[in-house]
Amino acid sequence: DLPASLLGEGTGDLPDDDGAPVQPVLAVVGRPNVGKSTLVNRILGRREAVVQDVSGVTRDRVAYDALWNGRRFTLLDTGGWEPGAKGMQAAISAQAETAMATADVILLVVDGQVGATAVDEAVARTLRRSDRPVILAATKVDDMRAEGELSALWRLGLGEPHPVSGLHGRGSGDLLDLVLEAMPESPRDDGLLLEGGPRRVALVGKPNVGKSSLLNQLTGESRSVVDPTAGTTTDPVDSLVEIDGETWKIVDTAGLRRKVGQASGTEYYASLRTKAAIEAAEITVLLLDASEPISEQDLRVASQVADAGRALVLAMNKWDLVDEDRRDAMVRELERALVRFPWVERINISAKTGRAVRKLAPAMRTALENWDRRVPTGQLNQWLADIVAATPPPVRGGKQPKILYATQAQNRPPTFVLFTSGFLEAGYRRFLERKLRETFPLTGTPVQINVRVRE
Ligand code: GDP
Ligand code: GDP
Repeated sequence: DLPASLLGEGTGDLPDDDGAPVQPVLAVVGRPNVGKSTLVNRILGRREAVVQDVSGVTRDRVAYDALWNGRRFTLLDTGGWEPGAKGMQAAISAQAETAMATADVILLVVDGQVGATAVDEAVARTLRRSDRPVILAATKVDDMRAEGELSALWRLGLGEPHPVSGLHGRGSGDLLDLVLEAMPESPRDDGLLLEGGPRRVALVGKPNVGKSSLLNQLTGESRSVVDPTAGTTTDPVDSLVEIDGETWKIVDTAGLRRKVGQASGTEYYASLRTKAAIEAAEITVLLLDASEPISEQDLRVASQVADAGRALVLAMNKWDLVDEDRRDAMVRELERALVRFPWVERINISAKTGRAVRKLAPAMRTALENWDRRVPTGQLNQWLADIVAATPPPVRGGKQPKILYATQAQNRPPTFVLFTSGFLEAGYRRFLERKLRETFPLTGTPVQINVRVRE
């Protein structure tokens, strides 16, 4: 009998905010018609702005990926309500509050031709409370002459007003330089994972499942080459193997060949060596014995791969031993056991006969492609707006949590951050993950959804 934790129930609440690095966020705030969209499009080089025309869903926040001087940040356009809608004051305060709660830098845009209005002053008053840097931009300043009018904007109490023309681009570069200066450093990718060269594969599975046979089968036509860069000549660790026209690095082949600790197989399987191989690799091919029921150990290793944030392919080996008339029942059994891993591709192979072994490389490639995936922020928020409009998060403690916007903080594996105004239940996060996988290709990779709750 398998413990409940391996059967998809009782996974408990996922941790909030695991501290994964997030791209810095710039929020653009200001009254309607001051020129925010024009400026945003200018900053984006109009790369993503197209997604804004969405039917059906009213949204009041749109997030985009932006890039300036080689640095990435998320641009949050908090505008977008109907011009002339009543309650502008309230709407704009809400905008400022969202910006203060979630952004790293706030850009207040005022109309340089009109000067500061009472609404601008009210927003500025709110923003002066912010512990984040606030930069004041006066837009529609298309030429030198218009700059004369700006001195009156000092009384907003946000420091120097920076003239810019969203329409012509005048001053926008200087403005972005200031924005980036005020921003925290962008997150760096994990150096280990960015290492170039062949993709790294861990081949794991319990003793006698057929790991060596598969390796032989794979290297049968090509030659397996001991990787000169790893280990020593007496203890080669990794092998370079050509599979399907591509070179892969199989990590810890020494462990496979020497059959370390075969006598105490269970221990070996669950050993640190397996764990180390999984962590050294980008993708794990987990071999299961199709002629036997799936074991708790097998599921544990699959969980280990997912927890380590690595891509995973399941190879059901010894498929030649499974009776034709037992196959359907077996697949059903498997699916029950693997409920926690609906995202993993399964292939049925025989390392002995070579059956379907050629399907392995394409499955590995797909999983790695998805593991590497970056979902553009515009598309992500488009998706989020649709999902939340159709199925809002459940009320908790009498409050309806609001999801403000989302960004992808990292890839390898794809890691998403939801900025919310309240706690999201684990069930709703799992729902979001399911929906995310329906929309974006993420087969073969675990994904992580973190929540940053701001009040
Ligand atoms: P938003 O409502 O704040 O997003 O403002 P928009 O970007 O939609 O701009 C409102 C109007 O101001 C539009 O007619 C724009 O063409 C115009 N506008 C925006 N930026 C500039 C600018 O830099 N110079 C001039 N002359 N007009 C601008
Ligand atoms: P390892 O301990 O995981 O490296 O497993 P081996 O590759 O040494 O295989 C253990 C035994 O299973 C050997 O006798 C293999 O011939 C046999 N074996 C491996 N793959 C298959 C397969 O696909 N079908 C069958 N029938 N036997 C297999």
